[in-house]
Amino acid sequence: MYDVIVIGAGPAGMMASISAATSNKKVLLIDKNDKVGKKMALTGGSRCNVINLKSTKEFINEIPVNNKMLYSALNQFGPQDIFDYFIKIGVPLKIEDNDRVFPISNKSKTIIDALESQLKINNVFINLNEVVDSIENCDTYKIVKTNKNTYKTEKIIIATGGVSYPVTGSTGDGYKLAEKMDQTVTKLYPAETFLINKEPLPLAGITIDSVLITFNKSQATGSMLFTHTGLSGPAIFKISAEVYNELKTSKYATIGIDLIPNFTFDQLAISLNDYNPKKEINSFVRDYLPKRLGDYIVNETIPNLKVGITSKVNKQKLLLALKNFKVTIKSTGTIEQSIVTGGGIDMKYINFKTMESLTNNKIYFAGEVLDIHGHTGGYNITIALSTGFVAGKLQ
Ligand SMILES: Cc1cc2nc3c(=O)[nH]c(=O)nc-3n(C[C@H](O)[C@H](O)[C@H](O)COP(=O)(O)OP(=O)(O)OC[C@H]3O[C@@H](n4cnc5c(N)ncnc54)[C@H](O)[C@@H]3O)c2cc1C
Repeated sequence: MYDVIVIGAGPAGMMASISAATSNKKVLLIDKNDKVGKKMALTGGSRCNVINLKSTKEFINEIPVNNKMLYSALNQFGPQDIFDYFIKIGVPLKIEDNDRVFPISNKSKTIIDALESQLKINNVFINLNEVVDSIENCDTYKIVKTNKNTYKTEKIIIATGGVSYPVTGSTGDGYKLAEKMDQTVTKLYPAETFLINKEPLPLAGITIDSVLITFNKSQATGSMLFTHTGLSGPAIFKISAEVYNELKTSKYATIGIDLIPNFTFDQLAISLNDYNPKKEINSFVRDYLPKRLGDYIVNETIPNLKVGITSKVNKQKLLLALKNFKVTIKSTGTIEQSIVTGGGIDMKYINFKTMESLTNNKIYFAGEVLDIHGHTGGYNITIALSTGFVAGKLQ
């Protein structure tokens, strides 16, 4: 008989196990993979953006759905606590732009190894290559059946992740286990994913550090990348769920990209008027944008004449194209291709102070399996570690 069985050895499940074991509980952690943290190994380009250190209020603003339900978990084990925890267990960290935290080693393995050694130090039993097939509620205990064994436990923590990147083991099993216990699961959708253009642009490989994207009433800032089929990068990911939603009812969705958000339309107009009249108009644009992108926009918009003989109307047209570059989108990446899964365990039926189900006693949920996700930038692993810690805590 175990005190706690944790299903899933991603960041949420590992932290939940450590948290429970440090409260002197007998803990079994089960994962279907042959190693812990398989998805975590891929994160942040294999560097693992493990935390975002923003203040709780700013952090919450980066969580598009159910964000208020995170306050309690973040107050119990928030970004700074997670940062201090890793330092305490001997993982040197560094802070990069936008409050993103990485291991100094630039290797996700450093984080995974540190968590794994904490599991061992705290005597967590780890069963790998084992798939949880079912959960049964008995009066005073629960039964967990796997492809190899049957276990009894007092408490279960489901930390099985979403359905994105299923090769990492996150195949949505947690939703099925939950539904069998009548736990409500909201509709799943791709969140934080790339967009596919109606017509591909000859701009593949160009990145821009800072853009402002407008779609319907939403805006997103950050960097972006032109791909062979469309658009990608953090700013694009931020609006992808909304674009996905729109494409459920419309054939196309059009986004507007401010390619030079650091200057207003009027500031650019003044610079263009003051620009050397003998130089060609694309030379002006190249001061602000990568050459290939600048040339493309000029060629698609107005004749590339000398600035001095370019008409006022054409200058306006060009500035409009730079400040509101329209791209028509026909589809988004699939849920399997997305960085995180939108939707999940319905937060209405979760006690978000403890992560316990309100409808199934002693069943807890943590991490991406919940209907909470963040934008890219370290928010998702922070959420996994924070909710995992809370779910594992001695209640
Ligand atoms: C390419 C990529 C890059 C990313 N980069 C970042 C980043 O840099 N920073 C960030 O914050 N987030 C990043 N994310 C998101 C982040 O990885 C996830 O949100 C996070 O891993 C979720 O943690 P989790 O513990 O909830 O689930 P997961 O990490 O998905 O772990 C779930 C575990 O449960 C196991 N499991 C599932 N079903 C069963 C079952 N029936 N029996 C046994 N085991 C089971 C799986 O094998 C898996 O190991 C990235 C995601 C991707 C795909």
